[in-house]
Parts: sequence; C-alpha cells; structure tokens
Amino acid sequence: MIDSQFEEQPLAPLIRELLERLEEDPQRDGLVRTPERADKALRFLTSGYRMDVHRIVNGALFEVKYDAMVVVKDIEFFSLCEHHMLPFFGRIHVAYLPRKKVIGLSKIPRIVDMFARRLQIQERLTQELAQTIQEVLDPVGVGVICDAKHFCMMMRGVEKQHSGAMTSAMLGAFREQKETRDEFLALVNHRNSGY
Ligand SMILES: [Zn+2]
Repeated sequence: MIDSQFEEQPLAPLIRELLERLEEDPQRDGLVRTPERADKALRFLTSGYRMDVHRIVNGALFEVKYDAMVVVKDIEFFSLCEHHMLPFFGRIHVAYLPRKKVIGLSKIPRIVDMFARRLQIQERLTQELAQTIQEVLDPVGVGVICDAKHFCMMMRGVEKQHSGAMTSAMLGAFREQKETRDEFLALVNHRNSGY
C-alpha cells in the first residue's frame, strides 16, 4: 500500500532540507514542526492519487427513465499546478444527459476532489473529469467547465493578479448538439438561482 510506503519515506526530512536551502533556520520556533505539518498537507493535497473512482461511486448509480439534463454547478476545487507545485483553485460545473442511469449528486464533487488533489494542469483536470463521468455513467453526453485562478500566475507577477483561465470538455451530445451545449451554458451562467 502506498500509505505505508509514505511512512517509510516521510517527506519531513526533505522539507527540513528545503528550508535550509532557502536559507531559513528549521530550528527556529515557528519552523520546528513545519516539516511534519507540510508533509501532512502535501499528502492530503495529493491524496487523489490514492482514491479509486469505483470506491467513490460505490453503487450510487440509479436506473431512471429521466432524460433531462442534470447539472451540478459551482463545485469548489483546490489543486496544485504541476509546473510550479503552487495552488490553482476555482469552480467546476458538470452536466450530463442520462441514458439510463443517474449518479448520486454528492458523488460528483468527490470525483472532482479525486482529480483535483493531484499535481495537475487545468486542461487535464477538466478532461479527466469528463471522461471518467462518461465511463462510469455512459450518459448521452457530458459537459465540464472549469473556471480557475492560478497562484503561479498571480503571485509571480507573470500575469495580472485577477486573471483566470477557463477550460471545457464536451463529450457526446454536448459536443455534437449546439442546443445541448447552449442549455448547459445558460444554466451555468444563471447566477442568481435564489436558493
Ligand atoms: Zn503553474
């Protein structure tokens, strides 16, 4: 199991060395326990590698005769960019057109976490999510939109601080039918749904 491997090779000594190389003093008060804390934080932020989609779904698929669009919007996510290991975060909107099955609504944010808690790029996160929902549910189509801000852009002064990036992945009917795509976009853009 990967977990026990982690215990044999804790990240804390590496982080202590990293602090030294950054010309910090790992022995000073505020930093004494930082390597252990950062170790835990990094493992949590990459825990998606150790998740399994079938375990997450765990039978929460339900047969229906329903064929209208299902939309789960504004799913908050936090990820780490694989180029700088800095956070990027934002919201993801997922929609699908059921063929025979729907999935428990709470499962979709958990699948988002599974892909977000890894080293990622926004484009791949968006694609992997769409493809996984396609594989698990076999719907008529899937649409995923991801709206994110990247600390590597915001903090390093590369781009304007408020710049964000949007990515989308459209499969099946969402790719082929403009009306389906438009319906999804209209639902996502309808901000004041009043709940
Ligand atoms: Zn980056």
